[in-house]
Amino acid sequence: MIRLIVFDLDDTLYNEFEFVKNGFKEVAKYLSNKYAIHIDELYKKMRELLNKYGRGTIFDRLCEEYSFNEEIMNLVEIYRSAEGKLKLYDDSYEVLKKLQYNYNLGIITDGKSSVQWNKIKSLDIENYFDKIIVTDDFGREYWKPHEYSYKKMLEYFNCKPHEAVYIGDNPAKDFIGARKVGFYTVRIIRECGDNMKLKEEKGYEADFTINNLNELINIIKNI
Ligand SMILES: [Mg+2]
Repeated sequence: MIRLIVFDLDDTLYNEFEFVKNGFKEVAKYLSNKYAIHIDELYKKMRELLNKYGRGTIFDRLCEEYSFNEEIMNLVEIYRSAEGKLKLYDDSYEVLKKLQYNYNLGIITDGKSSVQWNKIKSLDIENYFDKIIVTDDFGREYWKPHEYSYKKMLEYFNCKPHEAVYIGDNPAKDFIGARKVGFYTVRIIRECGDNMKLKEEKGYEADFTINNLNELINIIKNI
């Protein structure tokens, strides 16, 4: 019988692109004030650079294109500390409300600690969960797929691995550690998200695949 349900955060419970857009808006505002270029133009340019090159070099390319003399790390900080409101997917609210009084609920999430905790605050979801682990709080080497956080989670609830399930969106890292520890695993494939097109390689796959979190209810009942 399942007693513990642990979720990934980004692109599992909410659309991380909303966070990215908030960050872009904040950086566009800062640069627009400083260089008198329209905020919409800068924002649009960042979206274009993201589509073309993916993450990682957007601010470098932007500064090069406009000859901005900026410390990239400063722009990254502005991006990271953007305070726009985030919102869970509708099915996340639905399923958390259904599960919260009958199961122990947790989150295990990767990413820079301060950024992840800001997201959690902005989403205003702490009340739904009994235990939230930001892997970065233990150190960079403990990010998924490291098993440590999954073991910590079991320990906290005094729970056996076969009583626990982990739900995530990224087959490159979400299910490896979870499986090694003995969790059941569920992959959510949504209409958008960075990882929806990633193929699962052998050993990386989840036990179940769903397209809507409400499908979890039946899976958990039948395990
Ligand atoms: Mg994710």
